[in-house]
Amino acid sequence: MIITEISIDGYEEVVHGVDKKTGMDALAHNLEAYCASGYHPMADGIALEGMSLIKKWLLIAVNEGKNLEARSAMLVAATMGSTAFQKGLGAIHSLSHPVNSVYNIHHGLSNAIFMPYVLTFNKKEIEKKIIKLSEYLELEEKSFQCFLNWILDLRKELRIPHKLSDVANIKTNEIDKLSLMALEDPSTSGNPKKLSLKDMKLMYKYSLEGKLF
Ligand SMILES: [Zn+2]
Repeated sequence: MIITEISIDGYEEVVHGVDKKTGMDALAHNLEAYCASGYHPMADGIALEGMSLIKKWLLIAVNEGKNLEARSAMLVAATMGSTAFQKGLGAIHSLSHPVNSVYNIHHGLSNAIFMPYVLTFNKKEIEKKIIKLSEYLELEEKSFQCFLNWILDLRKELRIPHKLSDVANIKTNEIDKLSLMALEDPSTSGNPKKLSLKDMKLMYKYSLEGKLF
């Protein structure tokens, strides 16, 4: 029998600020896997429970750095996200990767910023699934809007900036290059809505301006 051990030694000293970003990356992995096009019920189930763990433990792990129960739960949720995304990812990651490499913006931070823009862009394609998710997460209402509000509130509590322009000085004439990189990203094919270069440009533009779809 093979026993896998996940060590949390040393992890408790992670600098405040890094754990909220990596935690939001874990959320993005579970969320994008759950919403990704394609048939993979096992990945969907893992992603649902991964997001439930994140809802319960992320803020506690960030606010109480020495709470090992919260940190252990986040490690498990992160592992579940990376297991679930064998199904696919989506535009949150497509938009993030170019910004991470060209502007040296933390991957988890950019994912957290792009999350509500991509959710609202994909709304028509994912609304039914998000309603099911809001029920699983026991949010106040079973609705897309209630889930979106939870994401926006979580970002506020973690002090994640709302606009991409708050973390990167991206000029209008650089959006074309970034959009092409985003379109060619391997995550793009998993997005629930088929994406064009125009869509990528629009999502960058809205994210820079802080305007949801
Ligand atoms: Zn990621």
